[in-house]
Amino acid sequence: MIPVNEPRITKAEKEAVAACLEQGWISSEGPFVPRFEEAFARLVNRRRGIAVANGTAALEIAVKALGIGQGDEVIMPTLTIISPAAAVVRCGALPVLVDSERRTWNMDVGQIEGKITPRTRAIIVVHLYGLPVDMDPLLNLAARYGLSVIEDAAEMHGQTYRGRPCGSFGTLSTFSFYANKHITTGEGGIIVTDDDELDGRCRSLRNLCFGEEHRFVHQEMGWNYRLTSIQAALGLSQLDRLGEIVRRKRRIGGLYTERLQDIEALELPPAATDYGENIYWVYGLILKETASLTKRELMARLAALGVGTRPFFWPMHEQPVFQRQGLFPGEAYPVAERLARQGFYLPSGLALEDEQIEQVAAVLRRELS
Ligand SMILES: *Cc1c(COP(=O)(O)O)cnc(C)c1O
Repeated sequence: MIPVNEPRITKAEKEAVAACLEQGWISSEGPFVPRFEEAFARLVNRRRGIAVANGTAALEIAVKALGIGQGDEVIMPTLTIISPAAAVVRCGALPVLVDSERRTWNMDVGQIEGKITPRTRAIIVVHLYGLPVDMDPLLNLAARYGLSVIEDAAEMHGQTYRGRPCGSFGTLSTFSFYANKHITTGEGGIIVTDDDELDGRCRSLRNLCFGEEHRFVHQEMGWNYRLTSIQAALGLSQLDRLGEIVRRKRRIGGLYTERLQDIEALELPPAATDYGENIYWVYGLILKETASLTKRELMARLAALGVGTRPFFWPMHEQPVFQRQGLFPGEAYPVAERLARQGFYLPSGLALEDEQIEQVAAVLRRELS
């Protein structure tokens, strides 16, 4: 079986974790977490980093730290993981959705302005699958209307937009270090910002909003969303080889494209746009409606032949959990609906060998011919 994601943990990383254990730092106390926060913030040109338990927790804290709540609206793409919408709904605010772009699969920035109302407080921008969102027009809008930007860069470690790092654009920007991200701590995440006051709010929310004068007297409710030293040690040791990781991901993407580009039934991810070169967080594909079998059938065939795949995200306006709450009644986003129905991705983990890419491509070609 070629799994859809197999991470690669090097000897240096195992040694870094062993050294952490050796020194006895196993909770979030000690020097490892601050070291990781500083190094990661520096990597994306930010002043502050707040390490947390996962990328979803990072988004929840970001939404809360900005004071978003009842009566507020937050604009975001319909096609993404549920985490950004869940964070907004949980704090009593309303997600306002925009459709995707057909070519990049990212949110269509041109649709944002039409969704702004007097209640709009923020835009959550999510860079999906490997290409950055077109940030300049989005940042212009945010500045013109006085909106905060939460940048979900969970899939974008090492990616840039017009030469500037993803994760450097948001009022608050977030990353995930889940096992299938370019940098992984198993589970983990971080919020980065240049704003000292927001940094303080995020730190407090991460750590149960313990009181300043009396530790156990709370002015607010937070979460225990702390990252452990063991996780920080693992992440820290990977930062050194991020360049190498991104090169490998681009090579995986390039090889797949080379091998698949003449298959009529497939739409492949663009290698680049005017503003960014694909880093292929995963190698996604769109199966054309004219193909000889459905996506479900194709994915089942591939699984039977030992090739793991995953479907694309499912749009927020089509989520039963939100529909039951009366959200997004009658809304339609045709591009996102098509991507969700026809899109899936191939094995793209860092442990994947070139030979396995050839195998996957050969199986796919056979099934689609
Ligand atoms: C992975 C991911 C997340 C969530 O991260 P977790 O660490 O799994 O909670 C959020 N947003 C995007 C775009 C992701 O890809």
